[in-house]
Amino acid sequence: MTAALTASDIQQCQAQLQQRRGALRAALLEHTRTGDTASASAAVEVHDLKDEAFAHALANLANTELVHAREELAATEAALQRIVSGNYAECASCGRDIGRERLLVQPGADRCLRCQNEAERKPTVRAEFRSQLAPGAAIPPRR
Ligand SMILES: [Zn+2]
Repeated sequence: MTAALTASDIQQCQAQLQQRRGALRAALLEHTRTGDTASASAAVEVHDLKDEAFAHALANLANTELVHAREELAATEAALQRIVSGNYAECASCGRDIGRERLLVQPGADRCLRCQNEAERKPTVRAEFRSQLAPGAAIPPRR
């Protein structure tokens, strides 16, 4: 059905993944260097409740980006590890071939398109719970 990945395809994916990993690491490093001091000074400069809410929203946004960057870095590293292990093109869910075209477009993909669609259609319990909360609301601790 789909052509298998060639050695040079894998090299191409690996180069893209390594480049992405470098960019993500640099961004995360930059954030740890500047992010904390920026939000700390923003908190000091807050004067009224509206400003405080805005500063809080900004901090949440930054945190969301940070979480996404960390997740992407983990996925990128996992993909590089799969190249080393020799199961790069194997779907993490069904074990079938992920597909050459998909990997060339999205070198960090760990599922075939079918499994990915299925996973996105069935949100996790936590994601469903989160969607019922107001945006940016903190998830209450378990009782
Ligand atoms: Zn699959």
